[in-house]
Amino acid sequence: MKSAAPSSSLPRLDPAQVRAWVGPEAYRRGRWYYRQGRVRHPRRYGAELRALCQGQASEPYRVQVRLGSDGVAAARCTCPVGGQGRCKHVAAVLILWTAEPDAFAPTPPVAERLASWDRAALIALVEALIDRHPDLEAFLPLFQPPAAPPDEAPREEKGREG
Ligand SMILES: [Zn+2]
Repeated sequence: MKSAAPSSSLPRLDPAQVRAWVGPEAYRRGRWYYRQGRVRHPRRYGAELRALCQGQASEPYRVQVRLGSDGVAAARCTCPVGGQGRCKHVAAVLILWTAEPDAFAPTPPVAERLASWDRAALIALVEALIDRHPDLEAFLPLFQPPAAPPDEAPREEKGREG
């Protein structure tokens, strides 16, 4: 399994590197968020860290950090000032990474996790997502595969699931 690299094989950061990335004020406030346990659902996709961080809004912000060979390569947060990835929420997630790297559960990419799902399960998933977020339905045409040319009718290969 290629996605199960241990966290020890990834770049480690020290607090000074985190402070240098986000700045002293975001670092100070991020440390408070970290100590309050506001970083939720930390997980790791290869060298990319993802987590939720509960800020002032009712919905938690989503934080993504890509680790490079010498520290943070890129980061972003969905909060109003997080576009450059240098906010207190990113700070809180990075502080968690410095203090408790094993808190980030190694997670295979979504494509890998869905690869073995059958068609009915994938359809049920899409329906459930649209049920929860109705605006997603507008994206369906963007992912519709092109129609097959008329003289290349698909082979009848049904009934293999029994
Ligand atoms: Zn943020």
